Amino acid sequence: MDEVVKAAAGVSGTETARFKVLNDKEPRTTGEYVLWWPTECPRVQWNDTYELAKSIAVQADLPIICLYAIDLAFYSMGSIRHINFLLEGLVELKKSVESSNQSRLFLRFEPVGSGAALSVVGSEDLSFSGFGEKAYAVVTDAVYMPRSSKILASAAENLDCPLVSVESSVVIPIRKITTDGQVPDQSAFLESWMDICTDFVKPRKSVKLTRSVPSSMEKLDCGCVFGSRDREWYPGDWLQESDRLKEVLNENGVDSEVSAVTSAYRGGESGGRKLLGIFVTRKLDAYGYASENYGETKRGEYGSLLSPYLNFGFMSPSEVISRSMESGAKGHSLDTFLEKLALRDFAYVRSALEPNYGSYEAIKESERDAIEQIKAKDEDRTYPDEEWAHAQTHDNVWNGIQRELLLRGRNILNDRNIWCYKIIDIEKSSRNAFRLARKLNDKYMLDAIGPVGIFALLGCFESYAGYRMSIVGGGEG
Ligand SMILES: Cc1cc2nc3c(=O)[nH]c(=O)nc-3n(C[C@H](O)[C@H](O)[C@H](O)COP(=O)(O)OP(=O)(O)OC[C@H]3O[C@@H](n4cnc5c(N)ncnc54)[C@H](O)[C@@H]3O)c2cc1C
Repeated sequence: MDEVVKAAAGVSGTETARFKVLNDKEPRTTGEYVLWWPTECPRVQWNDTYELAKSIAVQADLPIICLYAIDLAFYSMGSIRHINFLLEGLVELKKSVESSNQSRLFLRFEPVGSGAALSVVGSEDLSFSGFGEKAYAVVTDAVYMPRSSKILASAAENLDCPLVSVESSVVIPIRKITTDGQVPDQSAFLESWMDICTDFVKPRKSVKLTRSVPSSMEKLDCGCVFGSRDREWYPGDWLQESDRLKEVLNENGVDSEVSAVTSAYRGGESGGRKLLGIFVTRKLDAYGYASENYGETKRGEYGSLLSPYLNFGFMSPSEVISRSMESGAKGHSLDTFLEKLALRDFAYVRSALEPNYGSYEAIKESERDAIEQIKAKDEDRTYPDEEWAHAQTHDNVWNGIQRELLLRGRNILNDRNIWCYKIIDIEKSSRNAFRLARKLNDKYMLDAIGPVGIFALLGCFESYAGYRMSIVGGGEG
C-alpha cells in the first residue's frame, strides 16, 4: 500500500512526514469506494486528509464517500453545545462534498461503551456492517488524544483494507518537528517552529475527482444507528429534531441541559473564514501590543476568536497563517500571533507524546509542590460540582466569569486565567481543583475538549504560585 499512497501523495502534494499507513493490509481489489473518515478535520479546504483521500480515489479510479461518526463517549466530557456546533459544521460539509454529485456524506453516532470505530469496522454482535467493509482504503485524520489513539489502533487492526492517517490538525507534522518521539523543550520547539513554519503553509492543491457516486451508493445500510428512522438522518435533520437528539445524548451520558450559546458562533468553515477575514483586516496589525497588554481579557476586541473553529477542525491553522501573511502584516504583531499558533501545535505534540497529559501529574512536580505548600495554609473549603457549575460559590468575581461562560460558551470579556486561578484559590485540594477546572472547561467552553484546553490549564497551575505571590505577597493567605 505504501507505494499507492506515496504515488497519490505525490499528486496531492502531501508531505511524506504528514501521513502514515497504520496497518499492513493490501487495498481491497473489490473495493467500491475510498472511505474518507474525518475525525478531527471536517472541512473541504486546506485539508491534507481530504486531498490525499481524493488522490487515492483518482488513482484507483473509484468514487469517494465520507463518513462522520460522532463518538458520544468523547462528547460526554463536553455537552450538547459542542454537538450542536459540530452538527452545524457538518451541514455545511455535507453541502460541500455533495456538490456536483462528487461524493456522499453519511452521519452516524457511536454509542457509549463501544470504545471502537464501530461504524467503520462493523459489529457482528450488533449485526451491522461497517463503511470500511466495502472500501478500497480508508483515509482518516491523525489523532492526538489517548482515547482517539486507541480507537484508531483498533480500527487499523480490525479493518481488512489499509488505514491511512494524515496530520491535518497541526501546521508542522509531529515527525518533522520532534526526534525519537520525545517532547522537546518548549522554547526550543517554538524557535524551530518559527524557523520552518512558512514551508508548511502553502495553499493545498485541490485534487479533482474523476468518478462520481453512483445512485446505488446514495443510501448505504452500514454503521451504527439507534433506531430505524435515524438511518436516513443527516446533520440538518438532527439539528431540527432536537428532542430526538437530546434523547440520544441523554442515553449516552452527554449533558443536553447546557443552553445553546448566546453569540454569533455557528459551526462550519465559512463561519471561521468570516472571522479570519475580520481578524486580518481589522485586528492583526495591533495584535502584538493588545495581546501583551490585555492578556486573556478583551479577546473579543483583539483576538481572532478562531479557537472553536480550530479546535473542531473547521479551520486549518495553515490557512490562518497563510492569510495572516498575505494580509501584509509583519513584525511584532505577526510574530506574536504566529507564536500563539506555535503554542497550539506544541499542545498537540505534548498530547500525542506525553502519556499522562491531561492528568494532575502532568503539572511540573516543583509547581505541584509549590501549590500544595500554599494550599496547606488555606481555609478548608470545597463546593459540590453542581454549585461550581451554576456559579454558586461565595466569590462573586468568579461567579460572574462563570455566568458569562454559561451564556456565551467562552469568556471573552473576562480573564480565563483568573477563572482558573480562582478555582485553585477556593478549593482546598489542588488535585480536585485541577479535576474541576478541566471538567468545567470541557463542558462549557466551546473551544474545549482538546489538547489546547489542557495545555492552558497546565499553564495556569504552573504559574499559580507566582500569581499568588503577586496578590498576597508570598501566599500567607
Ligand atoms: C483557563 C484557560 C482555559 C483555556 N481553555 C482553552 C481551550 O479549551 N481551548 C483553546 O483553544 N484555548 C484555550 N485557552 C487558551 C486561550 O484562552 C484561547 O486559545 C484563546 O482565548 C482563543 O481566542 P482566540 O481564538 O481569539 O485566540 P488568538 O489570540 O486569535 O490566537 C489564535 C489561536 O492560537 C491558539 N492559542 C492562543 N493562545 C494560546 C495559548 N496560550 N496556548 C495554546 N494555544 C493558544 C488558539 O488556537 C487560538 O485560537 C484557555 C486559556 C485559559 C487561561
